[in-house]
Amino acid sequence: MLLVINAGSSSIKTAVFDDHLQHRFAASVSEIGSTAMLHAGGQRAECIAPDIEAALRLCLDALATAGLSFDQLTGAAHRVVHGGSAFAQACRITPQVITAIEDCVPLAPLHNPANLTAIRALADLFPNLPQYASFDTAFHATNPKVAVTYALPQEPRNLGIRRYGFHGISYAGIVRKVKEISENSLPRRLLALHLGNGASLCGIVDGLSVATSMGYSPLDGLTMGTRTGSIDGNAVLRMAEVYGIKEASTMLNRQSGLLGLGGCNDMRQLHDATTPEATFAVEHFCYWAVRHAGSMIAAMGGLDAIAFSGGIGENDEKVRSAIVAGLAFAGAVPVWVIPAEEELTIAMEARAVRKAEREGRGAQNHPSS
Ligand code: ADP
Repeated sequence: MLLVINAGSSSIKTAVFDDHLQHRFAASVSEIGSTAMLHAGGQRAECIAPDIEAALRLCLDALATAGLSFDQLTGAAHRVVHGGSAFAQACRITPQVITAIEDCVPLAPLHNPANLTAIRALADLFPNLPQYASFDTAFHATNPKVAVTYALPQEPRNLGIRRYGFHGISYAGIVRKVKEISENSLPRRLLALHLGNGASLCGIVDGLSVATSMGYSPLDGLTMGTRTGSIDGNAVLRMAEVYGIKEASTMLNRQSGLLGLGGCNDMRQLHDATTPEATFAVEHFCYWAVRHAGSMIAAMGGLDAIAFSGGIGENDEKVRSAIVAGLAFAGAVPVWVIPAEEELTIAMEARAVRKAEREGRGAQNHPSS
């Protein structure tokens, strides 16, 4: 049995897969630090979870109540948001890996500390349990230098200010699923769209990411639930001048996007609302998805197939149709809807690392710097 842990800044999701990668149990806590809710066994209940560690313990208790016996666990696999330039694939968590994840905290100040807390808490509880990490940035390690470099002077580039890209675990899952659906003849140039609260696009050529819409942080690219998407750096500086850095950051990350334009970050509610603001927010979302998709198609040198994933991508026929219509210029191509099974992908990656270790290929998975 493999425990998968996806710890975010205000939520934690856990899932347990058996040795055949069948999903067995799940528990999660949302709204950590405020009105925390435990979700387990199809039920939700208020709970007391002031921090990630408390929330993780609640999840583990719920998994035990559901029937998981901890001595059946053979490993734990974590989603880690930022692997910086150090990780091009999933790996076993060692002290060296923990240091490398710590080094990426300035790049993901909300997410990586949550991931580290979960890794350390689990190591305290189960010191002998092997732990693995899958990185949201790793899938984009194949982007060419020209795609990831900001045209900045050398000094800020030395700080690690470059494009990284995110949603990589979702994109790796999309590639796997599309391979399955197309009976291994993966389309050469695949445009993948992960459209959830966070939203991004990825240009995938022969299964490898060549370009993606998110950059240094997940703020860049598409109009999102609460993030602005692409915005001129000078506009950001002006906002920082007027509102201060902290407030400007809150506005850009938590009060913009669909919420900022339409008053709500739930796409379903925006469709139901009849206000011009709600209609405009949806139009903005689709327009910018098409604009950024055009950039991905150029980076791929054409388009052979489209895959949608994420809460909006999987469920929202209207948004999908608007985006596909906007891309008609690139020709008629197959369109797939692929459920984002990030927990399963993390479990599969951990299993692959374990297999490589057994076969003596583990050294490949150590951080590169
Ligand atoms: P997160 O990035 O937080 O994981 P999700 O992938 O769950 O987000 O996506 C959340 C978004 O998906 C919200 O905007 C929500 O309104 C939208 N969504 C979920 N179900 C539907 C649906 N049936 N129709 C349209 N939008 C939906």
